[in-house]
Amino acid sequence: MGGVLLYKRRIYISKECPFKGFIMQFIHNSPTISHARYERTLRRAKNNFFFVGMKTNIKNYMMQCDIYQREKVENTRPSGLL
Ligand SMILES: [Zn+2]
Repeated sequence: MGGVLLYKRRIYISKECPFKGFIMQFIHNSPTISHARYERTLRRAKNNFFFVGMKTNIKNYMMQCDIYQREKVENTRPSGLL
């Protein structure tokens, strides 16, 4: 597989890896982890993968996720103002 190899028992993702988008989806949104928040997504990424610019990549990916953006707004909406 081009751009994918093992590094310290984690999967190393190169900058040009064509699977990057797929991996982002896997760590941020999969059946067991539905649109995780940034911290959780990052932890999951660190546990399984190693790639350059991980934080930036995750941030950018999550900024493009409509569902996450919507949930974030709902979760951070001040409560007790009804
Ligand atoms: Zn999402």
